Amino acid sequence: MVTSFYITPKAIFVVDQQRTCQLVTLGCKVNQYETQLVLETLQQNGYREAADGESADLCIVNTCTVTNTGDSKSRQVIRQLAKKNPGTKTIVMGCYATRDPQAVSELPNVIEVVTDKRELPDVLGRFGIFDMPAGISEFEGHRRAFVKIQDGCILKCSYCIIPKVRPGIRSRRPQDIEDEIRRLVDNGYCEIVISGIHVGHFGIDTNNLTNGDNPERLWDLFRRLDRIPGDWRMRLSSIESVEVNDDFIKAAGDCEHLCPQFHPALQSGSDTVLERMRRRYRVDRFLERLDQIRDMLGNDPAFTTDIIVGFPGETDAEFEETLETCRRARFMKIHAFPYSRRDGTPAADFKDQLPPNIIKERVHALSSLERDLALDFYNNRVAVGTQQVVLAERICDDRPGWVKGTDQWYVPTEVQGTAADLGRFVRCIPQEANRHGVVASRIDTAEDRKTLATAGKSF
Ligand code: SF4
Repeated sequence: MVTSFYITPKAIFVVDQQRTCQLVTLGCKVNQYETQLVLETLQQNGYREAADGESADLCIVNTCTVTNTGDSKSRQVIRQLAKKNPGTKTIVMGCYATRDPQAVSELPNVIEVVTDKRELPDVLGRFGIFDMPAGISEFEGHRRAFVKIQDGCILKCSYCIIPKVRPGIRSRRPQDIEDEIRRLVDNGYCEIVISGIHVGHFGIDTNNLTNGDNPERLWDLFRRLDRIPGDWRMRLSSIESVEVNDDFIKAAGDCEHLCPQFHPALQSGSDTVLERMRRRYRVDRFLERLDQIRDMLGNDPAFTTDIIVGFPGETDAEFEETLETCRRARFMKIHAFPYSRRDGTPAADFKDQLPPNIIKERVHALSSLERDLALDFYNNRVAVGTQQVVLAERICDDRPGWVKGTDQWYVPTEVQGTAADLGRFVRCIPQEANRHGVVASRIDTAEDRKTLATAGKSF
């Protein structure tokens, strides 16, 4: 058994390098980022991840509470871990832990429930784990790395529990974010997803006053990050349409490393539903912002969105309005979420909760529209023929000698390649579109690229 001495400002202690840990994450990109940060902290303190079938000395579960299902899955995971690792101390963090610490503390093996992440370093310290780094260096199990730039939401959408469990805005220091992304790029990550709970509010909190009274906002951060050299790109995870202002649009047009794909969450395409959801925009204004981005970027950006289907009281006519808005928006991808009653939110008490069969039918109709809109977008990419830069993510099992990935517009693409390409950019020209995406032909030389790239940014 190998042991070594670690000297930290806090203490001198012996670290047993054979200590093992198991971390499980439920939920969103932000949770995944936070788990990665905890994993790197543990590794720095001599832990390694338990192998398959090996029991762990410490378990950490990062929970989710966005739906009632998130709660029950979180409980299930904790119980399963306890079965697999009898007697192992388990720390539980994340949104469900914050919302219902009592219920979590009663689950087997749970020894600590972290209800406020700011307390996490102290909690880990009680286990002899110190010095949480300011950022991550890799993103285990992923080809692209998620980077959290802020936490928290201060809005009050009527269906959402998140502001109760992640209250207030906490933006990270821009320099820490920049250092982290430089590190990730140096470590070979080609695509960084800029993530947060409400990224459009990055920098509005006073903690982030880095320049006198002039805090760095999201568009300033884009410009700062865009100066990081190398063959890499950043993708914005989501944005609220009301935060798409002139500064944002201008930065989106100027920043070479920023993907021309944006995810403004529409949630409903009906003004009356939006009002009941307590969203801050109406359909016309939303569409106007999309047009402004299209005008600025020229090279037809891709828009993806989230829609909640079957919000309480949603009539047939209101749902039709949503379909029409999606057509007008020309979304490339729509995440259709069947409305799920979330205890603790105002909408859970609204009358006229819709029966599951109606919600199912509407999800089906929206998914069918999404497939048509996606195909239109893919066909258009083939017609324009602009160079694609595809992040190769996996081998095509049914097509030897080909890999799959997504390009700068987030178009799923198949292109000639091998395992050596995985995690790297493959440059190609779209040849044909189908319901699954685009089939492209690879361009290998700089001369090819110079000749064939017809328009748009080069990444
Ligand atoms: S913007 Fe609305 S939906 Fe998004 S986290 Fe905040 S309250 Fe929830």
